[in-house]
Amino acid sequence: MKLDRRKFLFASTILGGSFFAGGLNPGYAAKKIFINKENTKMKFTFKPYTLELKHVFTLATSSRTTTPVVLTQIEYEGITGYGEASMPPYLGESHETATKFLSKVNLEQFNDPFEMESILEYIDGIDKLNPAAKAAVDIALHDLVGKLLGKPWYRIWGFDKNKTPHTSFTIGIDKPEVVRQKVKEAEEYKILKVKLGRETDKEMIETIREVTDKPITVDVNQGWKDKFFALDMINWLNTKNVKYVEQPMPKEMIDEMAWLTEKSPLPTIGDESVQRIPDVVKAHGVYSGINIKLMKCTGMREAYKMLNLAKSLGMKVMLGCMTETSCAISAASQLAPEVQWADLDGNLLISNDIYTGTKVVDGKITLTDKPGIGLS
Ligand code: MG
Repeated sequence: MKLDRRKFLFASTILGGSFFAGGLNPGYAAKKIFINKENTKMKFTFKPYTLELKHVFTLATSSRTTTPVVLTQIEYEGITGYGEASMPPYLGESHETATKFLSKVNLEQFNDPFEMESILEYIDGIDKLNPAAKAAVDIALHDLVGKLLGKPWYRIWGFDKNKTPHTSFTIGIDKPEVVRQKVKEAEEYKILKVKLGRETDKEMIETIREVTDKPITVDVNQGWKDKFFALDMINWLNTKNVKYVEQPMPKEMIDEMAWLTEKSPLPTIGDESVQRIPDVVKAHGVYSGINIKLMKCTGMREAYKMLNLAKSLGMKVMLGCMTETSCAISAASQLAPEVQWADLDGNLLISNDIYTGTKVVDGKITLTDKPGIGLS
């Protein structure tokens, strides 16, 4: 019954003003009368939420146990799209900045959620920066439109769900006995990700190699400041079954980074240096590939454009995330069939996820058949 109504609503969206003139089934016309005028506008709401991390999360520059997020909804004709902004403190967004930004969002000026380009250009133009807050609107809009179409986004984009990669699982910097324990807990995952960029880099890798020979990916978070040191490290990592090196040097060191990529036996990936579309062009010739994250690039629409641009430039693409719920992870995973590598473990690192969506099954990103971003 609900599905019939949805189909009808979609038909009326396509047919627009010519609906009654077209002489359609009078039963449909009778239903049209019952649509509440208020429901034909998009209603946007949001609420702050705090994610609890299972382990203390340590990067080269900071440690923490929680991540602030904002959960969003767009309601339209009885259907709800869900979105999320995740805002690790070091990126400059917070509950306060997101609330301030999202309070300005007025989607009631748009009559049709399918006008995604116009809607998201408007969102992007509300204020500078705020990429995660913008992504929270973008994701909810994608979820809504996918649900109106009755299809998940990987299908709308024409991707093969069987081509998704395995996700890496992050082992945070810690004491050797804790690292060994974390590696054992990560048994399900086929690829481990290690955060480097400290004095203890070699010790971290050696400690992991004591307990497993699984492939490792490395994220230096700009931690190596000298190109010769970086090349020595990469040559050493290349003997330790490491697959790629993410952001080895500071993002400002462009010439040094291009030199390193040319000499490196492993692919180099730009993360901190690649936020949005123009950065993909700048990264060409400097890195082997880019790390796309919805919270950096304002959401799924720009992520899809960046993926296509990077592919057309012959660059590799990895998909990353912040600590976030299954909402934002499921949204990002819609792109997973077309990337070389994925690091979508953000929902696995928290203890209070409120959504169910894309799952990791035997280490592999496994998309659902649910419409939109694939939440149950
Ligand atoms: Mg990174």
